[in-house]
Amino acid sequence: MLELTAILKEHGLKVTPQRLSIFKMLRSTHIHPSAETIYKALQAEHPTMSLATVYKTLDTFVQHGLVQQLNLGEDSYRYDADTSKHSHVQCTKCKSVIDLPSLNQVPALRNEVQSTTGFILSHEQLYFYGLCPTCQEEGQN
Ligand code: ZN
Ligand code: MN
Repeated sequence: MLELTAILKEHGLKVTPQRLSIFKMLRSTHIHPSAETIYKALQAEHPTMSLATVYKTLDTFVQHGLVQQLNLGEDSYRYDADTSKHSHVQCTKCKSVIDLPSLNQVPALRNEVQSTTGFILSHEQLYFYGLCPTCQEEGQN
């Protein structure tokens, strides 16, 4: 917790109990929660915290590069405290989001995009979609 407080301070952010809880939750999960999921998970701990505060806090974290926002094309964004470059795959049924830490073909894909468009690429964000193993099993019942 001290470490998390220090990180927020390093970024010039005022440390409030709500901010700290949101940051802590994001740093301790791999589920890539939405703002609503974070809001619901922290309701018991922070009954007076509004959904708007969660959104505002997440925006602040994104602006400071502490968290990355994933736009998976649904109504709501998902959030990831792992700000390293990595791709994601989402289940179209249960909406779970899984990390794809390294994909061997990404450098080749970047080269192809650069040579076909003449762009000098700065970054990329890849999303894949399909049915997760659990949902595939449920579909067979
Ligand atoms: Zn699924
Ligand atoms: Mn991720």
